[in-house]
Order: sequence, then C-alpha cells, then structure tokens
Amino acid sequence: MASDETREAIVVGAGPVGLTAALALRAYGVPVTVLEAGPVDRQRPGSRAIFTHSSTLAVLDRLSPGLGADLAAHGVYWNTQRTFYAGREVYAKTYPDPPAGTYPHFTSLPQVHIEAHLLEHAKAAGVEFAWDQEVTDVVADDAGVRLATAGGTTWRAPYVVGADGSRSVVRHRIGARMEGSRDEGWYVVVDVAELPEPALPRERHFHYAHPAVDGRNVLVVPFAGGYRVDLQLVEGDDPAELASPEGVHAWLAAVLPPGYAERTTWVSTYQFLQLVAHDFADPARRVLLVGEAAHLFAPFGARGLNSGVPDAESAATAIVLARQAPGPAAARAAVEAFALARRSAALFNRDAAGEALAHLRPDPETAARIRAAAERAPADEAAATWLEKAPYGPRGVPRAETVYRY
Ligand SMILES: Cc1cc2nc3c(=O)[nH]c(=O)nc-3n(C[C@H](O)[C@H](O)[C@H](O)COP(=O)(O)OP(=O)(O)OC[C@H]3O[C@@H](n4cnc5c(N)ncnc54)[C@H](O)[C@@H]3O)c2cc1C
Repeated sequence: MASDETREAIVVGAGPVGLTAALALRAYGVPVTVLEAGPVDRQRPGSRAIFTHSSTLAVLDRLSPGLGADLAAHGVYWNTQRTFYAGREVYAKTYPDPPAGTYPHFTSLPQVHIEAHLLEHAKAAGVEFAWDQEVTDVVADDAGVRLATAGGTTWRAPYVVGADGSRSVVRHRIGARMEGSRDEGWYVVVDVAELPEPALPRERHFHYAHPAVDGRNVLVVPFAGGYRVDLQLVEGDDPAELASPEGVHAWLAAVLPPGYAERTTWVSTYQFLQLVAHDFADPARRVLLVGEAAHLFAPFGARGLNSGVPDAESAATAIVLARQAPGPAAARAAVEAFALARRSAALFNRDAAGEALAHLRPDPETAARIRAAAERAPADEAAATWLEKAPYGPRGVPRAETVYRY
C-alpha cells in the first residue's frame, strides 16, 4: 500500500557497509532507518569479505563497543604464510602471536557472519529496519531527499547514505558515473568446508604456476569453518566450465588433500574491477555513496569491506556536521569534504589493486622478473618477500583514512 514516511536519516542497503553507516549514525546520536530490498530472513551466499583488518575492527569497536572484539573472537587468525613457485616453496614466514588483550592483525570469517554481528549490534543500538523496500528512484535537492520504492512507499530524509552495493540504483539515480577498468582475466573462487582429517594447515598459501593445474596460480586462505580457494584462469580457459560442478571437482582434487573436493559450499567467478564513482555525493550534497555503491575492487588485497567501513564512518560524521552546520554552505562543505576524502582513498585503493593485477597478469618483462626471483628465492630474502607480497598490491592505508577527521 502506498504511504509517505519521513525520517531524520536513511541508509539504503543492509550489507556490511550500510549496517556500519547506520551504527555510526546511532553512535553519534542520529535516529536512522535502513531500507533493504531483501526480506528479513534472506540468505546471503559465500565467504566473500573474509579478511577483516585490525584497523577495521578498531573502527567497529569504536562505533559499537565489543563489536570488533566479537568478530576477532569468532574469526580465525593465521600467522604462517607460504609462497610456492611451480611446486617449490620460495617463501615461508611465521609471525609471533599477537600479545594477549590486543587485536590480531586481522580476523578471517565469512561475510555472512560479519553481517550477522553487525545486524545484532545495529538492532541493539536502536537502528530501525524496513525490509522488502527496494529503492527505485532518488530525487535530491536543497530541501532533502525523496526515495521511491517498488512497493509504492515514498521515504523522505534530509540526508541519505547510498550503500546499495555494486549495482547501486542510488548511484545511478544521482548521476554518479563509474570510472576505471575491468580486466579481461577470470578467477574461479570456491569455499570448502573444513575436515577434521586430513586437516589443512591454518596457513595462507599462494602458488605461482601450480604444477597440478597446468601452471595456473592458486591461492588458499583459511576462514572460520573452511577455506577459500582462488584459481586464476589463463587465456583460453572457459570460466563456466572451470566453475561447473565437474570442473571445480577436477581442479580442486588436484590442489587439496582427498575429501575436500566433495566439501564445496560456494562457487563463483570474478574479474578484476578497478572502478570508482566520479563523485561520492549528489550535486545537492544530500546523498552520500559508500562501499561498493562508490567503488569496486578485486578481492585480492581485501580492499572492499576494509575501505567500505571507513567510508561509512566518514559519511556518518559528515551528516552529523551537516546537521549541526550554521548554514547551508557549511552543511554542503561537510558533505563535500567527505566526498573528496573518500574518493581520494578509493583512488589510492584502485591504484594499489592495479599494481597487484600487473603482477598477477604480468607482461613479459614482469613474468621474467618473477621467474628470476623464484630462482633466487628463498636464498635471496628480498626476492622471496617480493614474491610473497606482490600479488596483493602495495600495503599501506590511504592517507585520508588515517588523518581525515572533521
Ligand atoms: C569473491 C569475493 C571475495 C571478496 N573478498 C573480500 C575480502 O576478503 N575482503 C574485503 O574487504 N572485501 C572482499 N570482497 C568485497 C566485499 O564482499 C564487498 O566489498 C562488500 O560486500 C560490499 O559491501 P556493501 O555493503 O557495500 O555492498 P553489498 O554487500 O552488496 O550490500 C548491498 C546491500 O544493498 C541491498 N540493495 C541493493 N539494491 C538495493 C535497492 N535498490 N534498494 C534497497 N536495498 C538494495 C542489497 O540487497 C544488499 O543487502 C569480496 C567480494 C567478492 C565477490
């Protein structure tokens, strides 16, 4: 039935970034409603954003005390990383355990569990949820924002956070364009449930040119309850064939111990995306884009959720400042500052992902450097470390993420 609802702030999308934005608004004392297209009991597939950095845990704990610690307690942590080239180990390092009472450098648990914890904390913080509310139109002007939903409801608020993911309707309706590229190469990603026997080591393994799968690259990453295995396809591979039940079974059985190829719980394919919205807010500076509504990066390097969380915190801060601003110019300036800072962080991440891609899909010169480094490693520590780190791109946090505060 058609109705007209007015709220103080609205977040579109109950994914991890929208939930974080809602939590942040509540932490700053702003009443907020989340409009989610899916039903209340929806099931979200796959491990997806498993790798949550300690800096993300710290932000979440700041917004909802205990949340970061909850995620760390439910996830797994590994401190051994190994790299192989054509089946030969070229790098291995075991880091000391984190000191008692501190966060590990990261925690690894499926996104669906991260979302469940966020949802629980958001409900406890008083966030209002409206499920089955697919936003179909967005109109923003100096007076505020009007959202239309497929069910015929009109929602109004002075400020809206667009957290509706990669196919964002909000982004489309405010006229923000995605800029960047999509690489031609394909990856197949598979979750396998863990087995007590034979147990896989709780270690991250990256294989260059794995001999059991005709020299394709393979990444194995543990998470709470299982392992994620990424297979990098080569030219001429058919993604549909290698992601089919028979295709997955064949290559998985070649790279994991017996029993695991029958334990597949999720299969997907992806390409390297490096897309950033040309603007993170609408022209009236009333709608703020965050997470995958604003940028799309490849999973290697774990930049999706880990940059979406600071987007969400910054968007909430900007809304608080805009609400308290002495006049419209100052209110616009607060949203403007958010849009500039988070876009610059996204461009940093896009470039970092681009460097990872240049390593994973090397030109002939880089391929020769990789081969030469593999010959010298592990005797040459610098070569070994380069082989280990380069697939994920340069480390470091965008400047805006550490110094940007209103
Ligand atoms: C294979 C894979 C592996 C990944 N690994 C990692 C990783 O290790 N680390 C990491 O940080 N990131 C990773 N990512 C990225 C991560 O999954 C995303 O960054 C994250 O899901 C983005 O969250 P979001 O809240 O922005 O969007 P989403 O999770 O897509 O949530 C959007 C929400 O909006 C809702 N919605 C959509 N349209 C509408 C509408 N019109 N109206 C109302 N609601 C709407 C959707 O139903 C959904 O609930 C991975 C992604 C993939 C695919």
